Amino acid sequence: MTDRDGPLPGVPAFGDRDGDVDEDEGRCGAGCTCGAEGGGGDRPVAADGSGGAVNVRDGSLGPITFTPPAEGASQDVEEGDPTERVGPPKGVDLDTPGYGIRREMNDIETPDDKTWFMELDAAVIDADRCIQCGTCVAACPSDSIAVGDDGLPELVKMCTGCSLCWDFCPRGGLRYERQWKITGGEDNVTGAGDPITEFSAKVTEEWRENAQDGGVVTSVLCHLLDAGEIDGALVATESDEEPWKAESFLATTPEELVESAGSFYNQTMALGDLDLDRWAHKLPDVPVEELSLAVVGTPCEIEGIRALRDFDWEYGSQEAGVRAIEYTIALMCTKNFNYYRLIGEQLAEKRGILPEEIGKLDVLDGEMRVYGRDGEKLLAEDVRNFHGAALKGCDECADFTGYCSDITVGSVGSSDEYSSVIVRTEKGLKAWELTAPDLDYHDLEDRSAIGGLQSWDKKKAFKSLKRPFDPDAPRFIEYAEFAEQYGTPLNPHESDH
Ligand SMILES: Cc1cc2nc3c(=O)[nH]c(=O)nc-3n(C[C@H](O)[C@H](O)[C@H](O)COP(=O)(O)OP(=O)(O)OC[C@H]3O[C@@H](n4cnc5c(N)ncnc54)[C@H](O)[C@@H]3O)c2cc1C
Ligand code: SF4
Ligand code: SF4
Repeated sequence: MTDRDGPLPGVPAFGDRDGDVDEDEGRCGAGCTCGAEGGGGDRPVAADGSGGAVNVRDGSLGPITFTPPAEGASQDVEEGDPTERVGPPKGVDLDTPGYGIRREMNDIETPDDKTWFMELDAAVIDADRCIQCGTCVAACPSDSIAVGDDGLPELVKMCTGCSLCWDFCPRGGLRYERQWKITGGEDNVTGAGDPITEFSAKVTEEWRENAQDGGVVTSVLCHLLDAGEIDGALVATESDEEPWKAESFLATTPEELVESAGSFYNQTMALGDLDLDRWAHKLPDVPVEELSLAVVGTPCEIEGIRALRDFDWEYGSQEAGVRAIEYTIALMCTKNFNYYRLIGEQLAEKRGILPEEIGKLDVLDGEMRVYGRDGEKLLAEDVRNFHGAALKGCDECADFTGYCSDITVGSVGSSDEYSSVIVRTEKGLKAWELTAPDLDYHDLEDRSAIGGLQSWDKKKAFKSLKRPFDPDAPRFIEYAEFAEQYGTPLNPHESDH
């Protein structure tokens, strides 16, 4: 994000652009935002439950021990179109998704129990593993989940135990690496995924000074809007009340898109903002089924929306919004922060840098850098000192390059003022072709830099996950299985019901 009152140079958000992994320091080099935990080393990962993905050793996948997915069920992506939406089994009543559906999805014989919001709460939110993607809010068919004052999901109505918030949570029941494969096919698991094509690109217009890197994300959205491909895009904008806090926002004009350019370092619970009634005043007066939107988000948010769209049941008031998403753009991401811990505790309270003094915030070359409103450097400090402000759930994320997106954009791999662009799908290609004539672009400068950081990110995740990382296992993880691996209480809902 740049200070709208004082243009700042378009420097990259996170990390150095060559994506080097600094093994000596036990963390990735300039691209590292993980802090003190150690990232790039080869510490063996225990298979005895003492931490780390149980099928990973020395940072690499070992033999897969999970049950293979059921043939002919929704898990089977070997045949047919992997992007085809998976319908519910015949004869299942969609109004109240129940175990019939879940059994078909997972090939599970006898589920032990319903999974309630309380399970999600105990295993993810209370456990400080929530990555604030908002998928649970979008998934809830009874609109029982909202966003609390602390920016986390909270129950606002009775939970019906339908299990969907658990199933679709990328830190709960959604086996995100399985979603990569279902969305993008066999090759969308290794390397940086299976791109159609890649570029280093930047816009040449003056407004790029507001953008984080090359302004490609904003330009793509403007072109999609201009071509009538979308009616709006869910992006991030700065809160009116709390400086430097990002909120999700449906931009419906090029001016709004340009105003929202730049990167913010907090999650926005974006998928919880897909209730189109909220945005009706900005959208064309057409039946909601005819609306088409794009979403820009961190890779975990794109995993969530792609999973939600694969199933046909009703997602309460977010239903129309979920169905309207036609284009997904992922921002490369190794780590995001909790707004209050970063801007409040770490910068304001501990270092005396008030939010209103900040003109630009950046994580670069392994340092947290804070600039004043005139561009002067206020702070450059080892980013590991800010580890306490990062979202703990990010440690378990292996999706630096946004495998589930139509287009991925980041800074690593391209020189200053350019964005690295990975085009992954036909839709992504269409969006790129609309935009390219107005861009200064060439072949991606350094593909290995992106691959290097992706590889580091996976190693980091393998060390943090306490469940197997298995792209071939069923898409949904049963709560009982998770509880065993993570040591969370088996029936937390019983104390609340
Ligand atoms: C938390 C975070 C971590 C990142 N980490 C890396 C990294 O490690 N390596 C790397 O190469 N790149 C990283 N990026 C991506 C990089 O900072 C730029 O966003 C990317 O290069 C696109 O630049 P651009 O100039 O093309 O985008 P712009 O034209 O500036 O547009 C950016 C778009 O993203 C939206 N946006 C900004 N912040 C958020 C947010 N928090 N959630 C949802 N939407 C948002 C804006 O509203 C805007 O629409 C990260 C981005 C974020 C938000
Ligand atoms: S990680 Fe996402 S889906 Fe899971 S609890 Fe947090 S906001 Fe909900
Ligand atoms: S590191 Fe992963 S989990 Fe964390 S915000 Fe980025 S994409 Fe989401």
